[in-house]
Amino acid sequence: MIIVLKPKATKKQVDHVLARIKELGLKPMVSKGTERTIIGVIGPEDTLRAQPLEVLPGVEKVMPVLKPFRLVSREFKPEPTVIDIHGVKVGGRRIAVIAGPCSVENEVMLLDTARQVKRGGALLLRGGAYKPRTSPYSFQGLRETGLRHLHEASERTGLPVVTELVDTRDVEAVARYADVIQIGARNMQNFELLKEVGQTQKPVLLKRGLSSTITEFLLAAEYILSQGNFNVMLCERGIRTFETHTRFTLDLSAIPVIKKLSHLPVIIDPSHGTGLWEYVPAMAKAAVAAGADGLIIEVHPNPEAAMSDGPQSLLPKTFAALMHDLKKVALAVGRTI
Ligand code: PEP
Ligand code: MN
Repeated sequence: MIIVLKPKATKKQVDHVLARIKELGLKPMVSKGTERTIIGVIGPEDTLRAQPLEVLPGVEKVMPVLKPFRLVSREFKPEPTVIDIHGVKVGGRRIAVIAGPCSVENEVMLLDTARQVKRGGALLLRGGAYKPRTSPYSFQGLRETGLRHLHEASERTGLPVVTELVDTRDVEAVARYADVIQIGARNMQNFELLKEVGQTQKPVLLKRGLSSTITEFLLAAEYILSQGNFNVMLCERGIRTFETHTRFTLDLSAIPVIKKLSHLPVIIDPSHGTGLWEYVPAMAKAAVAAGADGLIIEVHPNPEAAMSDGPQSLLPKTFAALMHDLKKVALAVGRTI
């Protein structure tokens, strides 16, 4: 249920509505827009249906939410969410590009890559320290050592870092070193992990599951928001289809669909989405044209020797050339990069 307050509702009236909801044993979540306040109510809708909340002073209307998700919905928050990551804004006019290696392999390569992607125009650095690999024999990541390298690279370059969390036991360590917690595609429906990150206030980059529908994706985000963390970015990274020329099928139509349904920023990952570096520039440009708020791109100084995802990693110079082209696409759609 969503309660829309009148534009001129006073703080006292809002507090009274909140108190009434709590009295009914329900949890109110407040969205303060520039125009008006909206209250989302979590809990059994039947309790509310029996209560005439419309009559409370300051209330304009009470609407049932027909969609399965509530706090992530546009109905709850009509204005787009802008997430501030140490001054880097995601969801505003400027498109945020996140770049870096798939895995943190060692201190030197990470710092080298970080410096090069910064020069190319990236605003955030990516790098995995805990790697969810298909095979148990593949490189599993440097774990805490990798987190320290990321922190060091961030200190030296000024780029905030994005890194993946795969286990609830590592929330504290990852939250200590990272500026954005990535929840990978394979963990999109790890509900305990979602609840844990929901209890922090760290920005979260939530990746779409390999075989998840957009509704399932938004419900996964709802888990995080329902715990009180509204700093969520939704990342489309390709889904499983019958096509084999690319590693996954990058669902660019998810951009307008999610933009219609939700207020959360949308990030596109053309690297995992295609699996092949030569297709990354085309998909990155298409994503910007289609309204993405950001991109996450894998860049490696020597992709042939990469410990993970070499075939889809751009060389730093290819990344820089792509950034140059993206500027023109961004300008054409009223954005900057
Ligand atoms: C990654 O970003 O390196 C990664 C493992 O992504 P995904 O979860 O989308 O496969
Ligand atoms: Mn990767």
